[in-house]
Amino acid sequence: MTRTAIVTGAARGIGAATAQRLSADGFAVAVLDLDEAACAATVASIVDAGGRAIAVGANVADAASVERAVARVVDELGAPTVLVNNAGIIRDNLLFKMTEDDWDAVLAVHLRGAFLMSRAVQEHQVAARWGRIVNLSSTSALGNRGQANYAAAKAGMQGFTKTLAIELGRYGVTANAIAPGFIVTDMTRSTAERMGVPFEDFVAHAAAEIPVQRAGTPDDIAAAASFFCSEEAGFVSGQVLYVAGGPRA
Ligand code: NAP
Repeated sequence: MTRTAIVTGAARGIGAATAQRLSADGFAVAVLDLDEAACAATVASIVDAGGRAIAVGANVADAASVERAVARVVDELGAPTVLVNNAGIIRDNLLFKMTEDDWDAVLAVHLRGAFLMSRAVQEHQVAARWGRIVNLSSTSALGNRGQANYAAAKAGMQGFTKTLAIELGRYGVTANAIAPGFIVTDMTRSTAERMGVPFEDFVAHAAAEIPVQRAGTPDDIAAAASFFCSEEAGFVSGQVLYVAGGPRA
């Protein structure tokens, strides 16, 4: 039986790599992102490799959009039992310059988005008496200058994950979080741009501070997600795995 996974924010970056990896692991994958057309490349890479995937345009922060998206996945791929809450944005600023919009937008995508998606998908997991939820946290959950909004959201993802693990465990559903350190994606590229630093220098500087002396890749995170979604990981729940080339980054 082919199981269906939804990966949010999967048009690019960590989400795209995770969608590809879960397909290679045997899941049918809904590649969900704000812009459906932007999902085409991820879907094509999966289909070209012999997998099954569809593009789904949805805003994870909007309840009606989430309900429509999950209903489409049920119709077109089958009831989803794996959910990776990966969609994310940054609106960095020091506290005294941070606007209410900066705060609300970040909390909405990460926390409200993970809540709405998990609430919509758990129904199918409970019915199947099996499920996997993986939430993207961050080393920023430990505190990071200029990221009061993002750090609060990513710390919140950890409490959310542990609570899902407690509530859903009796239905065969696990919930775990991955807390990446510095990963080379458009997100870190935009941070370098905002700081006016060439991306190569930004990556080199980050790598020098990381115990394994390199920046992370989306595939590093996809490998951790693959483990949490596997059959063998059924006794691992409510955990936060820092994937950061060291204890923190
Ligand atoms: P990315 O390259 O910026 O990709 C994020 C994706 O999420 C984008 O395609 C974006 O679409 C989508 N998205 C944003 N808001 C959305 C919404 N409301 N509904 C649906 N999709 C939405 O980011 P990434 O670096 O791969 O990061 C993925 C996750 O890992 C995020 O949760 C991030 O916070 C976390 N993380 C990243 C790092 C890192 O170093 N890169 C470190 C720690 C944690 P648009 O392009 O249309 O906005």
